Amino acid sequence: MNKSAAVFLAVLLVASIAVCFIPVASSQNGANVTVHFIDVGQGDSIFIDTSNMDVLIDAGSSSASSTVLDYLDDLNITHIHLMIATHAHADHIGGLVGVLNSAIIIDEVIVNNQTHTSATYTNFITLAQTHTITVAQRGQTFILAETANLTVLNPTQPLEFGDLNDNSIVVKLQAGNTSFLFTGDAEEDAE
Ligand SMILES: [Zn+2]
Repeated sequence: MNKSAAVFLAVLLVASIAVCFIPVASSQNGANVTVHFIDVGQGDSIFIDTSNMDVLIDAGSSSASSTVLDYLDDLNITHIHLMIATHAHADHIGGLVGVLNSAIIIDEVIVNNQTHTSATYTNFITLAQTHTITVAQRGQTFILAETANLTVLNPTQPLEFGDLNDNSIVVKLQAGNTSFLFTGDAEEDAE
């Protein structure tokens, strides 16, 4: 194998790992839940696909919005029920601006209620305010499907921390017998 072919294969391998599909649970009625970790480079983007409500958690930085939109388009997603912005840093909410500006229908945007002076945050919150906004608070539960729910573990309101990362929305996805924890940039003391 020549060098360029090897590099190409390595890139292909990395790409296939980064965008792998992880089926987490299925119920008797076939209600599947799939968690997609979208490769956005810096930051995170996670898409939870259930038989009923779909959830997008963050979308990387603004330069990643086309990656996220292409990914959702490949899944034929036209409707996101819950958009979670874990915290106000640009590498988490930047890409959400493009999603909010797209043709995708978004029912509800969940925020931690901590503002930021950045232009990215201003763009994000201005668009988010055209939707129903819910302030995340520990103990809230969102029923996504018969076998799947999402529970907010962080933050408490009023917010406990000065640090943006520590106030990140942390949610636990329970899908059948399997659970996932999505932590934003929360450090140990927030978790
Ligand atoms: Zn952060």
